[in-house]
Amino acid sequence: MSDADRSPLIESMGLTKHFTLGKNQTVHALDGVSLSIAPREILGLVGESGSGKSTYGKTLIGLHDKTAGEVVFDGEKLPARYHPRDFQRHARRMQMIFQDPYSSLNPRMTVGEIIGEGLRLHTNDSGAQIRERVAGWLERVGLNGDHMARYPHEFSGGQRQRIGIARALIMEPDFVVCDEPISALDVSVQAQVINLLDALKKSMGLTMLFIAHDLSMVRYVSDRMAVMYLGTVVEIGPANDVFFKPKHPYTEILVGSNPEPDPETERHRDSTHIRGEIPSPVNVKPGCRFAGRCPKVMDVCRSTTPELLPLADVTGREVACHLYQD
Ligand code: SF4
Repeated sequence: MSDADRSPLIESMGLTKHFTLGKNQTVHALDGVSLSIAPREILGLVGESGSGKSTYGKTLIGLHDKTAGEVVFDGEKLPARYHPRDFQRHARRMQMIFQDPYSSLNPRMTVGEIIGEGLRLHTNDSGAQIRERVAGWLERVGLNGDHMARYPHEFSGGQRQRIGIARALIMEPDFVVCDEPISALDVSVQAQVINLLDALKKSMGLTMLFIAHDLSMVRYVSDRMAVMYLGTVVEIGPANDVFFKPKHPYTEILVGSNPEPDPETERHRDSTHIRGEIPSPVNVKPGCRFAGRCPKVMDVCRSTTPELLPLADVTGREVACHLYQD
């Protein structure tokens, strides 16, 4: 039985997040996103900037209120708006590792205070117990206990991201949202952080939503991959299958435009580049949201919104495209 076949640890059904921008202007950041993640599964979420990936991660764990839809975590329906008491209860079990290791750490707090803050807020551990656990986690992420008294500016970008990982994982969460955890780092340290996350995932049995725009990185770390475009999921399936045999025209272009890590391979590669920019999510029109950029667009695409449906002949794949629908 694959991870994806087990009952989900977390599941969103029709998750929707709109922001109001003054009179008659609604930003459709997320529209009806239904995804499930099984225990110990890593679901990768890819798409261009502005596709709604981060909004999905934040809305899923309650950092944004939902506009519509439901989230069920470990069999319990989460509230649309959190009461602080509920948030505290769930904060222990759901954590987020943020994109930017420069701005996500409070520069006025020591590393020990930053990593131990969650334990101080959400447990009855004594100061000595918290210090001991912080020291243990500093070692676990490749730093050392002496770093506890230092401040974030004394560390490199890769080290700060390790501090961010320790801050999230010291809570021993069941579910972690990694929001572009390596995109602010030098290429040379990206692999180190990914290997650290991979090792921690295996040792802790974590379940993760891994958000990134680098498809080859997502393929490497994820069991399944979902592709988002303008607030909706357009394709989902086993990560290798989506990467090597994409079905949705947007995924095909995204894979074709994904740079190869090896510069020599990249120079000789027949890459495809996506036309234009992702459209504005304000007052989105009916029809396929990719129609304005799709090389395979048909008349029906401009009037009817395609549903995300399983492909009859490809196991485990769902695609939202009229090319595959009667
Ligand atoms: Fe292209 Fe039409 Fe498929 Fe949208 S539904 S991706 S416009 S072919």
